[in-house]
Order: sequence, then C-alpha cells, then structure tokens
Amino acid sequence: MLAINLIINNITQILTKISINDVVDILIISYIFYQMLKFIKDTRAEQLLKGVIFLLIATQLSGLFKLHTLYWVLVKILEVGFILPFIIFQPELRAGLEHIGRNTSIVRIGKNSDVENDKIIEDLVEEILESTYDLASKKIGALLVLEGKTKIKEIVETGIKIDGQVTKQLLGNIFIPNTPLHDGAVIIRDTKIKSAACFLPLTQRKDLSSELGTRHRAGIGISEISDCLTLIVSEETGGVSIARSGKIYRDVTRERLYNILKNFYKTKSESNWKFIGDKIKK
Ligand code: ATP
Ligand code: MG
Repeated sequence: MLAINLIINNITQILTKISINDVVDILIISYIFYQMLKFIKDTRAEQLLKGVIFLLIATQLSGLFKLHTLYWVLVKILEVGFILPFIIFQPELRAGLEHIGRNTSIVRIGKNSDVENDKIIEDLVEEILESTYDLASKKIGALLVLEGKTKIKEIVETGIKIDGQVTKQLLGNIFIPNTPLHDGAVIIRDTKIKSAACFLPLTQRKDLSSELGTRHRAGIGISEISDCLTLIVSEETGGVSIARSGKIYRDVTRERLYNILKNFYKTKSESNWKFIGDKIKK
C-alpha cells in the first residue's frame, strides 16, 4: 500500500511539473517520429530497418553469450552499416524530408475505407487477366508491376501519376503503341493503377536467354528488390511471362496466371494486408 502511495505521489509530482512547453515538445517529437515511421513503411527502408534490428539483437545476444569473434564482427558491421543507409537511401531521405515539409496537417482524415473480400479480388484478377491476354493476342508489349507488401513508392514516382481504378479498358489504353504512356511499366497498388511509364531497375543476371530484352530484364529487376509480381507481355512473341523474387516464368497460360493472381492477392489479404480503394465499377 505504501509503495502504491509513493508511486501515485511521484506521478502527481511529475504531472504538476509538466509545463505547456513539455507538451508542445512531446507533440513535435511524436509528429516527427510518426512521419519517419510512415516514410519507412512506404519504402524499401522498412526491410532495411528490420535488418538493422536483427543485427542489433544478434549483437546483444552474442555479447551476452560471450561469443567474442561473432560479437566483434557484428559490432564492426553495425559501425559501418549505420552510415550505409544514409548513402543508399539519400534520394528517399530527401524525398521524405520534402514530404514532411509539404505535409503540414497533423491529422489526416483517410478517405479510404478498407473493403476486403473475395469479390474485390475476383474482379481485380479478372480485369488484369483480361487485359494481359488481350494485349498478348494483339502482340502489344506491356509491363505490369503488381505491388506486394513492400511499397515501391520510389518506382511509382519515376512515372506519370494515374491513380485510377484497374480496368481492362484503362490498361489497354495505356499500352497502345506510340502513345505517351506506353513506354515503361504500370504500377498497380491494390485496386488502383498508381502510375504509368515508370522506370524499373534492370536485373544484372548474366544467365538469361538472349531473347529476353530490356522489358523482361526490367520486370525481373523489380522483382529482385521487392515482393511484387511482374507481368510481362512480349511484343515480339505475344507470350506472357511473370517475374517473382528474381525468377522468370515464361509462356504462362491464362489458367495458370489466374491461379497465380488469385493466390498472390489472397495471401496478401490474409496477412494483415488490406485493399485500399473501392470495388471495380464495370
Ligand atoms: P519484347 O519481347 O516485348 O520485345 P524485350 O524484353 O525484348 O521485350 P525490348 O524489346 O528491349 O524488350 O523492349 C523495350 C521496351 O521495354 C521499352 O520500349 C520500354 O517500354 C520497356 N522497358 C525497357 N527498359 C525498361 C525499364 N528499365 N523500365 C521500364 N520499362 C522498360
Ligand atoms: Mg525486344
């Protein structure tokens, strides 16, 4: 009882000492941390952060269990590793700071309601499937990146912003040859086409068939650095390929792609991933 009284007394004392300056101080720090976390969540920095946390835990554990060599190596990695993200993510950090500068409102009212059901997935898969094989039958080259859990904001920003519902009509229109948006990749986030004419990093793999040009290499490249699913339609052969985790699967049939797409979206929706956007309107 005495201990509880003591704690209550301490808390009351602390509370009476809090001035308006402290409240403002805490609010500002909270806002900065909120923006930083939001930035990290929207880019590949999230993966990097997980890596750093893993290293920190591993270092503490190796120290605790007196694994001296491992501890020494991990400490050295951390020493160098802490500078590396600032160099690697320099463009993203700059973009993040600019974003903080632009975004002055503390509370943002999200207009998206999280609708998540089989019907949305079914419609989305149908639209993507239809447009992919429609483009393939006409031998129109196309590159579609279906974003996974890792947000590829920095890639989205290389293209022209669209923010439109995924429909076969819009996708078909984007890839019409010799139109301003046909060159490059379309990025699909949830049920939205985020942007078109995006530039993707090319894979550095040397073991690929010489038939695979830059469109296919770009499709594989983005799948190496994120958990996206890339669909590639060849304008030379009309073949449909998919790239996932740095691997390419060629001449994928419509039935197979249907199953892959369903699985891709189902897995995402089952792992705390929520669709942003509305039902596709036909
Ligand atoms: P296809 O079988 O359709 O001919 P390919 O793999 O042989 O494909 P290219 O013929 O080199 O590839 O295709 C060039 C097109 O690929 C470009 O016009 C552009 O639309 C797209 N492309 C090339 N590089 C990139 C890139 N880095 N990011 C996004 N799109 C790219
Ligand atoms: Mg070619």
